[in-house]
Amino acid sequence: MRLKNVPGAREAIDKSDCAVTEPELWKGKWQELFPSAQPLHMEIGMGKGQFLMEMASRHPEVNYLGLEKYSSVLVRAVQKLEMKRQPNLFLVRADAQYLTEYFAQGEVNRIYLNFSDPWPKDRHAHRRLTSRQFLERYRVLLAPGGWIEFKTDNTGLFDFSLEELEQAGWELLYFTRNLHADPLGEGNVMTEYEERFSGRGNPICKLAARPPAAV
Ligand code: SAH
Repeated sequence: MRLKNVPGAREAIDKSDCAVTEPELWKGKWQELFPSAQPLHMEIGMGKGQFLMEMASRHPEVNYLGLEKYSSVLVRAVQKLEMKRQPNLFLVRADAQYLTEYFAQGEVNRIYLNFSDPWPKDRHAHRRLTSRQFLERYRVLLAPGGWIEFKTDNTGLFDFSLEELEQAGWELLYFTRNLHADPLGEGNVMTEYEERFSGRGNPICKLAARPPAAV
């Protein structure tokens, strides 16, 4: 995501009642944000929020959170959500590195990672959202039966992710290297990046995986 400083972004987010800026205060009680307690799904690195806006309207029986690190990006999603409020969607300014400070064990039912930053240099591998370091955080906060879904057009990052999942003992539920030409793509909701990259002819890879059962 190209980062432009957006003047007033922090202030606009701070005063919006569909955004959360102190996620540590909600640890263990995220359901209290929503009108009713329902399965909790979240996208990490949600960008401008197109995917979640559509998911939240298609699935009123699910509560959604969108996490985004940068105010300059998050503010775009906040503006969109303010125009078309959805009671089952909140946006959170948070760095996924500190997930276990924001969520209690087993508090989340599904995690979506869409077009996560590739961090191409080896020495930055631990920053990739599908690295073993992040998988361990997801394992802690996912409820029994929960899983992650990951989409990217970056085949290097996809291969890396498959290796990390195997190393960490996760169960691969399915994967495809061409989602848009695969029956798995039925009902697929496109993200902003997915539209852009598939528009350039790049095939979209997708996987779903579940953490090892607690010992
Ligand atoms: N999911 C969107 C955006 C993909 S770009 C889409 O598919 O269109 C990746 C996004 O992840 C960027 O907006 C970036 O700011 C965000 N991001 C990167 N690292 C993050 C982290 N550690 N915590 C939260 N968000 C992060």
